[in-house]
Amino acid sequence: MSIFHTVTSIDAARPHDKSLIACKGCGHKWVAVYPTGTKALECPGCHNAVNKYGTRVAIRRCKTCGAEFTVCPAPPPEKLDQWQHCLSEACDSYDDSRDADKLFDAGLVERDDDGS
Ligand SMILES: [Zn+2]
Ligand SMILES: [Zn+2]
Repeated sequence: MSIFHTVTSIDAARPHDKSLIACKGCGHKWVAVYPTGTKALECPGCHNAVNKYGTRVAIRRCKTCGAEFTVCPAPPPEKLDQWQHCLSEACDSYDDSRDADKLFDAGLVERDDDGS
């Protein structure tokens, strides 16, 4: 009996998704193939990070746990300093009062596109 097992690359075994992405920043359209769960893809047109819906995302590194995380839609540069921590439930930075999904559910967050 062999104790050796065939080593398979994790990347080859991982499921991939394929999407037609239209960048909302520059209008470039392309077909992207990426591992399922990927949150940010580089637009070949403008080289900004966008999600699969073409919405710009900001890639940040958590100051608490060091994990990379994305903020979508990308906040304007002057608001980026509000996003220093990943706020994931697995991280010490997790803060129930800043859980965006819960805030949206509670109606506490509104889109700030009213032009004021
Ligand atoms: Zn683009
Ligand atoms: Zn973290």
